Amino acid sequence: MDSSVAKQQATAGRTVTAEETYIRSELEQRRERLRAVLHSSAADATLLNFLTAVDAALRRFDQGTFGICETCHESIEADRLLGDPLVRFCLDHLTIAEQRALETDLSLAARIQRALLPKPDFAPAGWDVRFHYQPAGMVSGDYCDLLETDNGLLFMLGDVSGKGVAASMLMSHLRATFRSLAEASLPFGRMVEDANRIFCESTLAGQFATLIVGRAKTDGTVEFVSAGHLPLLHLHSDGATPKESTGVPLGMFCNSRFPVHQFTLAQGDAVFLYTDGLTEARNRTGQEYGLDRIRTRMACLSRSAPDALISTCIEDWISFSEGLKQTDDLTLLVMRRKEQDRQDRLLL
Ligand SMILES: [Zn+2]
Repeated sequence: MDSSVAKQQATAGRTVTAEETYIRSELEQRRERLRAVLHSSAADATLLNFLTAVDAALRRFDQGTFGICETCHESIEADRLLGDPLVRFCLDHLTIAEQRALETDLSLAARIQRALLPKPDFAPAGWDVRFHYQPAGMVSGDYCDLLETDNGLLFMLGDVSGKGVAASMLMSHLRATFRSLAEASLPFGRMVEDANRIFCESTLAGQFATLIVGRAKTDGTVEFVSAGHLPLLHLHSDGATPKESTGVPLGMFCNSRFPVHQFTLAQGDAVFLYTDGLTEARNRTGQEYGLDRIRTRMACLSRSAPDALISTCIEDWISFSEGLKQTDDLTLLVMRRKEQDRQDRLLL
């Protein structure tokens, strides 16, 4: 998902984005700190190089060339500037050494992000769960988590605005927020409201996340909040029923209220969640995969095992995309309520 603000890349004579205002004030603060340290006797000579680089970056702001690659004069990637406001070249024009360093950083970030996902063998009591997490690049802005609590199984699936490193940082922030709040045993709606406020206070204008947060109990009761996310699909013996979003995305307004909805899963019913990497995928004629297609596919597969459901969905998405490159992060999550007699048989 693209953030409209993140799209406003730096070009001479253009409007100043919220990110640029933020970066500029960060640079000014760094300059003050560096100057203060350089005045002390213990100052390291390399700090002078940093000060020179920070001064030069601030000069580029004054000249209207901040965020412009010095080789090709195209915009430098916005998420890289947020991560390091001193960068002067776009990804295509890094030196070999810089490219290697970036590749190492990104593969480390990707490994860290993988470790933040639920374990592939996660087997909560009463549920059969499977997920598929496929970033468009090295790292993803999609968020997927499962957590067993005393009050049921918490499931979260969302999509942070933007892509790449900046989005992946917000994703890990969101995960940490929900994990800490889950420990606090708050009422379900209150937990989402608190998470929204924390997220709101720590993001820039234009950064937000669409998200479904739910709690499923072994008796089949599911309560959930959808913060501007794509419809959840309830898979049952008669097909697939979408449950629409009724809340605004997380991080948009600090004091948002999020209506909590409830429904019941019969034994063998499942919940299917997905991100727009699936529904907004396009084929060679520009046609979108769309909600209807996923709903129809899932209705036919509503009694399949989560593994089969996910692999069939991915096969369909690949065949629809006609070999085009994946442009957005893709995440799928299925949670099926186990059938009691099967559970009993397994226990014998
Ligand atoms: Zn360039």
